[in-house]
Amino acid sequence: MLAIDFVNTLTSEDDHLEEWVSSQGLPWSERLRELRGQVEAAVLAARDGHEPDLAPLNAALRGAPAYDVLTWSGAVEMSREREGDEVARALAVLAGAAAELLASPAVRKVKTCEAPGCRLLFVPAHPRRRWCDPATCGNRVRVARYYQRHKD
Ligand SMILES: [Zn+2]
Repeated sequence: MLAIDFVNTLTSEDDHLEEWVSSQGLPWSERLRELRGQVEAAVLAARDGHEPDLAPLNAALRGAPAYDVLTWSGAVEMSREREGDEVARALAVLAGAAAELLASPAVRKVKTCEAPGCRLLFVPAHPRRRWCDPATCGNRVRVARYYQRHKD
């Protein structure tokens, strides 16, 4: 999920935003870092049933309005383009991904990883899942519990 991937570029240890943005083929701007914080705050508020601050996301969406373009290549194809400069388009694409999540019932299922020191968000495939990744965080917690139980 693009909005969750965007927010998760900030881990407890590291900030991967610049690499992630370039891996998405988007241009770099410090405004993306600001937008990430706004998206995270909005997702957490909506998850908890509180009114999120939607103004910054609406501003990003308005900065590069989308329109559909029809082309012919043996069949009619429709693609979505955006107006505006490339940074405005990047902000709008990521705000658009956040908008899809915020307006969907999935936002109520977003969880924060319960492993100590992990801040990653995830939408669990199974409602009882507690860790962003059972293979890393889940395993780390189980190993820590094992040592806790067996240390005496
Ligand atoms: Zn985790």
